[in-house]
Amino acid sequence: MIYIYLIFLSILFNLHFNNHILTGKFHFFAAVIIVFIQFLILSLSKNLFSIGFPILIFLSSIAKYFINTFKIKITTNAIGLVFETSLEEASGYVGWEMVAYVFLMVVLSIIAVIIFRKIYKKDFKKKLVLIIILSCFLPIFKKFHYTIQLMPHIIFEKSYKYALERYKFYRLAQKNRKNFKYKYLKISKDSPDIVLLVIGEAAREDHFHINGYFRKTSPEIEKLTNFVSFKKFYSCDITTRKSIPCFMTRATINNRKPIKTEKSVISVFKKAGYYTYWISNQRKLGKYDSPVTIIAKEADFLKFNNPTGDLKNIHIYDENLFPILKNILNDKKHNKKFIVLHTIGSHWHYEKHYPDSFRVFTPVCLFKDPTKCGREKVINSYDNTILNTDFVLANIVKIISKFNSILIYVSDHGEQLGENGIYGHGQERNEYQTHIAAFMWFSKKYKKLYKKVKSKKNLYLTHDIVFHSLLGCSKIDTNLIDKKLNICK
Ligand SMILES: [Zn+2]
Repeated sequence: MIYIYLIFLSILFNLHFNNHILTGKFHFFAAVIIVFIQFLILSLSKNLFSIGFPILIFLSSIAKYFINTFKIKITTNAIGLVFETSLEEASGYVGWEMVAYVFLMVVLSIIAVIIFRKIYKKDFKKKLVLIIILSCFLPIFKKFHYTIQLMPHIIFEKSYKYALERYKFYRLAQKNRKNFKYKYLKISKDSPDIVLLVIGEAAREDHFHINGYFRKTSPEIEKLTNFVSFKKFYSCDITTRKSIPCFMTRATINNRKPIKTEKSVISVFKKAGYYTYWISNQRKLGKYDSPVTIIAKEADFLKFNNPTGDLKNIHIYDENLFPILKNILNDKKHNKKFIVLHTIGSHWHYEKHYPDSFRVFTPVCLFKDPTKCGREKVINSYDNTILNTDFVLANIVKIISKFNSILIYVSDHGEQLGENGIYGHGQERNEYQTHIAAFMWFSKKYKKLYKKVKSKKNLYLTHDIVFHSLLGCSKIDTNLIDKKLNICK
């Protein structure tokens, strides 16, 4: 009786969660067996099943929702996003439909548990033998396992891999990064007093008017002098957590090792006599450090805006960074400053990240699920965030223009706006998710550098140049610089 019931649950589970990715009858049969083994393991103990089954259903229904809405695959990176993404970001995705759906699934799973407890029989040995026998068939099913995203197994497998990756990252980071050494480090008398790195969020090159977009999304930066917009700039990766550590260190698209073994450009600026700042409009990520916060912590001064407060309805605007930046610049204690501003930019939910006065392109997308709005509204909202980024960036330039200063702006990755039915980023490396906005600006003193850089604005460039160009353009010379990647050379 209990076995029939578990098989019944396995079939039901697969019909509901996996049928959209299964292709043939044998696929389905394999999936049912694999899920059946997992349910059988849970059923070894009455209490384990009673707790474990609803948790499985809870996780699977969340996963199913994300797979359907954002076409996200459950990968190690996706699990990392869940653990490291700030609550604010996460709440941007959670709509009432998702809550209702997950709630319903959990209620149904509790009913299934009640039935299970009624018909439960203690036959530990029999079940164990069955598990072992069925597991022998697993290698046959293995090839299906890699072609389909088999829930709930995939969630546990990827979570385990993620935990392992994090653990390894920590151990390596702690051990190796201490030994980051330079042969020499020289700073020129002409080095800028202010070096500013603005990290954009999900800003696409092709949605700025300055790059040829048909809408007037960048009126302010177009008025600036000594300002360069790069036309073919590509990101290292397609998520914040992977891109930022990549371009802050000597890591490149093809070699990520320095993320684990070396310190970031912040530490090099520190060594060169700069006081260093990391100001973030993105939330601090939980109790545990993410790869991004490990790098942020190298700075002398660290500030995360809005670390607490209302999580669901909070509006984070990048103009909130202006007073903080002004305070830093007014501080006379330090002559030379390297400042990183990590903006919220065009992060989903777009409507939460720009003030009402920038709601120029309408109608906008008010739903938390972009597929509900359709492309037109999503793009309108997105373009409003770009218009706001234009305003923020132009104002930052105005604020620092009194100083001998340079500015580099790079987005962390692109954003897919409904092309091929996909919204957001992190799903696949393509033109939409990697072709990013990137700018540079120079104060009067560095006119020559500006001209040099301007002549390269149509070249194919990537995040690989950020580390070397920040130092190179700041006239800091060290053996760490790869001259081919220094845009000011
Ligand atoms: Zn991002």
